Amino acid sequence: MNISSVTKTQSQIENLAATEAKPELSVVVPIYNEVESLPQLIEAIASVLTSAQLSYELICVDDGSLDGSAQLLKEQVLAYPNLRAVLLRRNYGQTAAMAAGFDYARGDAIVTLDGDLQNDPVDIPLLLAKLSEGYDLVSGWRKNRQDKALTRLLPSLIANWLIGQITGVKLHDYGCSLKAYRSELVADMNLYGELHRFLPALAFIEGARITELPVHHHARRHGKSKYGLGRTFRVVMDLLTVFFMKKFLTRPMHVFGLLGIMSLTLGIGLGLYLTILKLGLGQSIGDRPLLILAVVLVLTGVQLLSFGLLGELLMRTYHESQGRPIYRVREVVQINVKNSKEDG
Ligand code: UDP
Ligand code: MG
Repeated sequence: MNISSVTKTQSQIENLAATEAKPELSVVVPIYNEVESLPQLIEAIASVLTSAQLSYELICVDDGSLDGSAQLLKEQVLAYPNLRAVLLRRNYGQTAAMAAGFDYARGDAIVTLDGDLQNDPVDIPLLLAKLSEGYDLVSGWRKNRQDKALTRLLPSLIANWLIGQITGVKLHDYGCSLKAYRSELVADMNLYGELHRFLPALAFIEGARITELPVHHHARRHGKSKYGLGRTFRVVMDLLTVFFMKKFLTRPMHVFGLLGIMSLTLGIGLGLYLTILKLGLGQSIGDRPLLILAVVLVLTGVQLLSFGLLGELLMRTYHESQGRPIYRVREVVQINVKNSKEDG
C-alpha cells in the first residue's frame, strides 16, 4: 500500500513537470549551511536572469543543512515561482549535491554556482553567450580570487597545475564552481567523490569543446568555508582516478597486457638462462640474485596480465550495464531520412 502511494505521487510529480514548459536555462546551486546568504543569492539570480529575459529555473539543492537553509528555501519557493528546492536527506557533499541538481535540471543549458555569494550571478549571461558560440562547457576563471589565505591559494595553485599536466586540459582555474554546460554533456557524466572540479577534464575525455571566461569573485561574507586542507588530499586521489579513466577507460589490456608480456618474457628468458647454467654447465644457481629477479618478473608479468583482463571485464560491465556507448556523437548530419527510407 505504501509503495503504491509513493509511486502515485512520483508519477503525479512527473506529470506536473512534463506539462510545464522546459526552461532555456537551469541554474544549479549546492547549499550547505548558507542561510544568511540565501535570500540575497536568490534575489540576485532572479533579477539578473529576469532582466536578461531568459526563461530559467533555479534549482537549489539543500545538502542536509543544519542551520535552517532548507526551511528558508521552502518559504522562498512561494515567493519565487522559478525556484525549485531539492532537499537531500543528509549531508552528502558538494559533488553529490550538484549531481542531484543536474538530475532535476531540465534546461538546455545548465549553470552551476556556489551558494555563498562568492560567485556573482552577473556573470551568468556572459557565460551563456560564450556557450552559444559553440562550446559544450565554459568554465569560470576567478582571475581576482578573493580567498586570501595562503593555505587556500597554494594548494589550489599546485592542484591546478597538476590537473592541467595530467588531464591535458589547460584551464587556469578548475576549482571555480561558476560554470556553464550544455545539458547533453552533463547528462552522460557520472560524478563521484570530489569529481565536480574535474568535470571539464572528464568532459574533455568525452570529446567536449571547452573554454574559460574570467568571472567576478567575492570574499565570503557570511558563514564559513566548508573545506580545509583535507580537500587537497581528496582532490589528489580523484586526480589519480581521472588519470586512470583517461588512460585505460576503453582498453586496459593494451596497457597492462603490454607491461605484463614484457615482464613475463624477461622473467622466462632469465629463467631459461639460469636453467641452462644449472643443467647444462652444472653451475649452482641457488645463491644468485638473478634467480630472485627472474621469479619476481614472472610473477609480476602474470599479475599484470590478469589485471589487464580484469580491467577489460570491469570496463565492459561499466559500459554495458549503463548502456554507455564507447563513443560520443556530436551531431548527425543528413537530408530527409523519412523520404529516403520510403524510397528504399
Ligand atoms: N557545499 C555543499 N555541501 C558540502 C559542502 C559545501 O553543498 O558538504 C556547498 C556550499 O554551501 C557552497 C559550495 O558548496 O555553496 C562551495 O562550498 P564552500 O564555499 O565552502 O567552498 P570554497 O568556496 O571555500 O571552496
Ligand atoms: Mg565558497
